[in-house]
Amino acid sequence: MLDLAIIGGGPAGLVAGLYATRGGLKNVVMYEPGMPGGQITQSSEIENYPGQLEVISGLDLMEKWPKQAQQFGLKHEMKEVISVTKKADIFTLKLSDKSEVEALSVIVATGSVPRRAHFPGEDEFFGRGISTCATCDGFFYKEKEVAMIGGGDTALEEALYMANVASKVYLIHRRDTFRGSPTTVEKVMNNKKIEVVLNAKPKEVFGDKMGVTGLILDTPEGERVLDVPGVFLFVGRDVKNDMLKDAEENFICDVNESGEVIVDLKMHTSLEGLFAAGDIRIESAKQVVCAAADGSVAALEALLYVEVKKG
Ligand code: FAD
Ligand code: NAP
Repeated sequence: MLDLAIIGGGPAGLVAGLYATRGGLKNVVMYEPGMPGGQITQSSEIENYPGQLEVISGLDLMEKWPKQAQQFGLKHEMKEVISVTKKADIFTLKLSDKSEVEALSVIVATGSVPRRAHFPGEDEFFGRGISTCATCDGFFYKEKEVAMIGGGDTALEEALYMANVASKVYLIHRRDTFRGSPTTVEKVMNNKKIEVVLNAKPKEVFGDKMGVTGLILDTPEGERVLDVPGVFLFVGRDVKNDMLKDAEENFICDVNESGEVIVDLKMHTSLEGLFAAGDIRIESAKQVVCAAADGSVAALEALLYVEVKKG
C-alpha cells in the first residue's frame, strides 16, 4: 500500500512529490503517462518564474524538477490513472495498464488540457494542419503563413513565437480587446510579422487530403478567407478531472460548474485524504509558481494525514 499516490507530473505533482518524500513519506508514487514537466513544456519562452533571469523554454525550466524529487525517493510510473475510489479509508486507483494500486492518501494534480473551438472542419483536420501546440508543430510552417485563434496569454505568446518561424501570422480574436497581459499585447502589436484580426470568428477550415489549405472567418465586414496551411487553436483550457468520476459519472469530491476541484486553503478536497493542487483546483492563478506552491501545501497536509492514519 502506498502512503501517497500523486496523479500528474506537472509542476504541482512534482513539487508534491519533492515535499512528501523529503518530509519522510517512504512509499510515494507519481503517476504521469508522459515525461514529467506538464503543460509548461509546450511553452517556448518563460520569463516570470522567480529567480530565472534569462528567458528559457518550458522544457529547460522543468528539466531538473523530476531529478530533484527522485533523489529523495519519489517514484515515477508512466501510467495514466483511470479512476479513484475510496472505501474504509483506503483509496484504490485503477491504472491504464489495467492494474490497481491502493493508497492511504492521494494528491490530484492533473492540470488542464487545450480546449477545442468546435467549428466545421476542426475535427476532420485536427492533427493535419490544426494544432494546439506551436512549440510542437510550429516548425512544419517554417516560412509559411499561419492563423492563430485566441486572445489570451497563450495565443499572444505563441503568436510571438510563430512570428520567428512563419512568414506571417494572422492572430484572430473574437473581441476587440485581448484577455492576455498588456505587455505581451504591446509586443504583438509592434511585431510586423503579425496581423491582428479582431472581432473575427473562425467559421470553417477547409483543405484536401494532404491537410488544411485555408480558413474562413466571420468578420463584421463579411466573410474573409485566409489561405493558410496551418491553424493553431489557443482558446483556453479545460481541467482534466475524468479520473475523479465514479461508475455513475458522479464526482467523488465537490467540483464547481467548470469541473474545478473545490479545495480549502490547505488543498483539502471534500473527500478526506484526497488533496488537489495546481490548475485543477478552483481559483487557480494558472501559473507554474502557484502550481508548485499548491503541490508543497498539499504534500505537507498529506504528510500530517498519513501520520494520523498510521497512528
Ligand atoms: P499541468 O502542468 O497541466 O500538469 C498536469 C500533468 O498531469 C500533465 O503532465 C498530464 O500528463 C498529467 N495527467 C493528466 N491526467 C492524468 C491522469 N489521469 N493520470 C496521470 N497523469 C495525468 N505559467 C507561467 O507561470 N508562466 C508562463 O510563462 C506560462 N506559459 C504558458 C504557456 C503555455 C503554452 C501554456 C499551455 C501554459 C503556460 N503557463 C504559464 C501555465 C502553466 O503551464 C500551468 O499553470 C502549470 O503547468 C500548471 O501545473 P499543474 O501541475 O497544475 O498542471
Ligand atoms: P484564456 O486566458 O482562457 O484565453 C482563451 C482565449 O480564447 C480568450 O481570448 C477567448 O476569448 C478565446 N476563445 C475561447 N473560446 C473561443 C472560441 N470558441 N472561438 C474563438 N475564441 C475563443 O486561455 P489561455 O490563453 O490558454 O490561458 C490560460 C491560463 O494560463 C490563463 O490564466 C493565463 O493567464 C495562463 N497563462 C499564463 C501565461 C504567462 O503567465 N505568461 C502564459 C500562458 C497562459 P474571450 O477573451 O472573448 O473570452
